[in-house]
Amino acid sequence: MEFIDLKAQYLALKDEINANLQAVLDSAQFIGGPYVTELEKRLAAFVGRRHCVTCANGTDALQAAFMLAGVGSGDAVFCPDVTFISSTEPAKMLGAVSVFCDIRPDTYCLDPEGLERQIKAVAEEGRYVPKVVVAVDILGNPCDYDTLIPICEKYGLALIEDAAQSFGASYKGQRAGSFGQIAITSFFPAKPLGCYGDGGAVFTDDAGAAERLRSLFVHGKGPGGKYDNVRIGMNSRLDALQAAVLLPKLRALADYELNARQIVAKRYHAAFEGKLTTPFVEEGSISAWAQYALLAKDPQQRERILAHLREKKIPSMVYYPKPQHALPVFQGEPVYGETFKYADDYCSRTFSLPMHPYLTAADQQAVIDAVLEVV
Ligand SMILES: *Cc1c(COP(=O)(O)O)cnc(C)c1O
Repeated sequence: MEFIDLKAQYLALKDEINANLQAVLDSAQFIGGPYVTELEKRLAAFVGRRHCVTCANGTDALQAAFMLAGVGSGDAVFCPDVTFISSTEPAKMLGAVSVFCDIRPDTYCLDPEGLERQIKAVAEEGRYVPKVVVAVDILGNPCDYDTLIPICEKYGLALIEDAAQSFGASYKGQRAGSFGQIAITSFFPAKPLGCYGDGGAVFTDDAGAAERLRSLFVHGKGPGGKYDNVRIGMNSRLDALQAAVLLPKLRALADYELNARQIVAKRYHAAFEGKLTTPFVEEGSISAWAQYALLAKDPQQRERILAHLREKKIPSMVYYPKPQHALPVFQGEPVYGETFKYADDYCSRTFSLPMHPYLTAADQQAVIDAVLEVV
């Protein structure tokens, strides 16, 4: 059994993927070209944004988003305490500080109250300028945008949606990737829409921002092309081969994969409700179910469950074993007396089970049985 079964997905889409890859090889156009252009058009249409600009990975997409927002030395970038390091890592590289905020105990996303506490604390201290909020749709579950957006507006902060884990999800009828001035996603193989290597994309409705992104990703190229550099940029593009893989995968995600993930999640939910803490999706939200994460009763019970799964050769993961504020690299960041009560508790009890659109009912039952044997 696989945690995320990329082989089963490849078998289902093999003819189309192979034909596309062959076409790129025959064309010998490996950077840019019709597959990349077509993919960007379809991604933008799917998400409901005017522009999509692809790049080499989700971390680069975030770096470009921070550069567009003008993030630099002396700025504070706010993000939830439970996320992957990429959510603020590029901002740190640009000279900003990462200010972590506690999560909601139900959705595990950025807690609007925790965010506001931290914004006020930073503003009051006066050492850093509150600049950007990175809202992470954690594990595929969209943030509470109706509450987060007014907070960003109130304090004049730019909102960046980190939709690396939530491609395909939606919030009140709007797709993940459509929130904030800028949104990003990742096509790392294990994400809900993954390629066969690294890839990423930025979404915006602002034509000027899209043009600056196209410049940033090609060494700050100017109107005269890549040898007419007008700003310091990056070297970050999505390969034509990856675009050729992503086109059929995007179609499959929209046609049936997203739906298949809901069915798998419902089965887990029915099996574990009342026995473990099951993931909560807000009314009006649809999760992309990048992960199906349960909370054990306590860290000891989690250890027993994980050991039993290992014995049964059933894969499991912990997203994430440590909150951001506890990472060695962030020990020098400002903390403003925040307790991170919910983030610490979440990380001490969370574990994730196999979750992908090709999980059979029989395999899923084996996972469920193994977990319930311990619980
Ligand atoms: C995976 C991930 C990223 C970074 O994407 P890469 O393509 O791996 O660089 C950013 N944010 C979150 C929340 C992620 O899970």
